[in-house]
Amino acid sequence: MLSITCYGGVGEIGGNKILLEDRDTRLFFDFGFPFKKRAKYFEEYLNPRPGAGLLDLLEMGLLPPLKGIYREDMAGKKLWQEFISSPLYRELTIDGVLLTHAHVDHSGYISFLRDDIPIYASTMTAFIAKAMQDSVPPNFEKEVCYSLPRGSKGGYLRSQGTYRPRPFVFLDSPSISREAQDFWNSPPTKKNPLRPDPYCSTPEKIGGLRLKFFPVDHSIPGATAFAVETSSGWVGYTGDLRFHGRSSDQTERFVEEMHRLCPHILLCEGTRLREKRGASEKEAFDNCLKLVKKTEGLVIADFGARNIERLVSFYNIARETGRNLVIMGKDAYLLDAMHLASEGVPSIDQYPDILIYKDFKSRLSSWEKEIHRRYEDKLISPSYVRENALDIILCFSFWDLN
Ligand SMILES: [Zn+2]
Repeated sequence: MLSITCYGGVGEIGGNKILLEDRDTRLFFDFGFPFKKRAKYFEEYLNPRPGAGLLDLLEMGLLPPLKGIYREDMAGKKLWQEFISSPLYRELTIDGVLLTHAHVDHSGYISFLRDDIPIYASTMTAFIAKAMQDSVPPNFEKEVCYSLPRGSKGGYLRSQGTYRPRPFVFLDSPSISREAQDFWNSPPTKKNPLRPDPYCSTPEKIGGLRLKFFPVDHSIPGATAFAVETSSGWVGYTGDLRFHGRSSDQTERFVEEMHRLCPHILLCEGTRLREKRGASEKEAFDNCLKLVKKTEGLVIADFGARNIERLVSFYNIARETGRNLVIMGKDAYLLDAMHLASEGVPSIDQYPDILIYKDFKSRLSSWEKEIHRRYEDKLISPSYVRENALDIILCFSFWDLN
């Protein structure tokens, strides 16, 4: 019998963890990072303790107590005894996670799932997730694509061994280029290589259930909606989507396809259902252009480079106002990854007016060295920013201003 349980994402923005069970198949729609719930207990430098594994996250209700789906190396010896009496406790095995897109409120807590559970996603979603993980320091809450196993030492769980890749299934690519394979298999550090896994397939079923997937429009490329055929009929899951972006025709097509399937249930994201239509990208472009035109100093633009439409808008604003667009090294790395996933995302070489900010650092990660090598002629220093403040738009987030 069909059963759907929402372990996250109801009454909150993101944090989606929706369990679908039917006959012998169990799967999750998304397994996201619960920003709001987490902020009740943790912020800035106060974080769950990596050495305690799953304990803090289960204790604070950030993960549901479902024994069997989480990494065993993250569970201390007597962990589950503490949660057996919880009303939500149960033992469970799952056939996979259908991941709609790479925003962490939908993908982040995949980090804690067993690393033999397949993650079904578009190639773009997988590549964005990998680039994001590669370009941050190791963090046990950010191990979506690969993880460092942990072992107990004096009751404390320490990372040890080599990185283990998660089995991603790239839904929309029967094969990927050699260069894209190299990116996917490239280790975050030289001494811990990722072991390549088979990953390309366009499965028609997950467990015993038929599966359909549909590209939809969202502020991050690669967003995908799903439909699963259960014993009660089709169940659709939208993930995040919108109707006012440049690819809104994809969302319209998804609506038509779902209509044809006559779904038994449609699980729909609705963060801003009661609000009027948000500003279109064209309106955002016009407003920002006006502002930049009348600004007589440094312009700082704070948006995620994953939002390609916004990046293109600011690139065009920079051109119209005679400025260069300066992005961070991690954004250049992300853009390269997105270009490998789809040629629809232009390569940085196609943007002659883009420069890359080179921070002062004593040690560089391997991805940073690669970006510096690849784009040597585009690198600029902090003093360049000071001396040319009127000629650039600096794409810095609040957290980049340190
Ligand atoms: Zn999203």
